[in-house]
Amino acid sequence: MQESVSVIIPVYNEEESLSHLYKKLKDALDGLKRPYEIVFVDDGSSDSTLEILEEMQKKDEKVVAVSFRKNFGQTAAMAAGFAYSKGDIIITMDADLQNDPDDIPLLLEKIKDHDVVSGWRKERKDPFLSRRLPSVIANWLISTVTGVKLHDYGCTLKAYRKEVVKNIKLYGEMHRFIPAIASWVGARTTEVETHHYPRLYGKSKYGISRTIRVILDLITVKFLQSFSTRPIHAFGPPGLLMEGVGFLMAFYLIFEKFILGKSIGGRPMLFLSVLLIILGVQLIVMGLLGEMLARVYHESQGKPIYVVKKVLGSHGESQ
Ligand code: UDP
Ligand code: MG
Repeated sequence: MQESVSVIIPVYNEEESLSHLYKKLKDALDGLKRPYEIVFVDDGSSDSTLEILEEMQKKDEKVVAVSFRKNFGQTAAMAAGFAYSKGDIIITMDADLQNDPDDIPLLLEKIKDHDVVSGWRKERKDPFLSRRLPSVIANWLISTVTGVKLHDYGCTLKAYRKEVVKNIKLYGEMHRFIPAIASWVGARTTEVETHHYPRLYGKSKYGISRTIRVILDLITVKFLQSFSTRPIHAFGPPGLLMEGVGFLMAFYLIFEKFILGKSIGGRPMLFLSVLLIILGVQLIVMGLLGEMLARVYHESQGKPIYVVKKVLGSHGESQ
């Protein structure tokens, strides 16, 4: 049996684009000669997006339309798409025709021996200052910090094996980090050059402020990767260092005051010492709180701290 394909498309106020998109997508998917479905997720649109999707769904049983009560954002829409899709291969793309459905066969070719294939909009057709420049910096930063080198984390056109997305919970703007998160637990990740077109209808939903959110999400993702099972190792070392230096200074001042009989009331070192001691304690306590949270997180979700590839030989179900 051919592996089936689910195409997931978050849609927020894209009424003019939908019919063109649907037509191009149908042509591309019919050409694949394998089972497929198109999962549109209406992210609380206020235009006629939902009515158009309902019409499409009535006429075409391969269309699934999920509709949100309000606008929850592109990441949430994607998460819903993953949850409601049945395909073995999951492809995500934008609704605004900036991605090209004709690139899908390329992604499917690559996914044969990979788990994640990311599109790379090599000739990206977006404004330079507000989109392309921040994107170059963001991609460099994300690649460096995560250790997973991709040219275009922001490209929505990507393909995943279903196990990859079904096991990742998404928050914030985190859909773009799926390739990195997946790679950390052993997914084989690659990228292919894909086409990109200027937006023909409607407006982009994002501006420069997105870059800041992406950088904050990167900090979260990196922290979770490195320290989610041992937060005290992140907060503890600087905490201990501050404690150590703070106490050394305090002892020195005590020596000056009681042995040398000097006045220490106006010494900047006194303030620094007190500051370091207090900050140090706070960091260590934060680490301990983090440890408690980590236990709650892993144990309440029954989430193990490892990912098993396979088990060979006989093994009982553990209790
Ligand atoms: N989108 C969404 N919810 C949002 C914002 C955007 O579902 O809150 C969808 C939007 O309809 C489009 C895709 O996400 O299909 C990408 O959005 P956009 O084209 O505005 O982003 P850009 O291409 O400018 O980065
Ligand atoms: Mg777009």
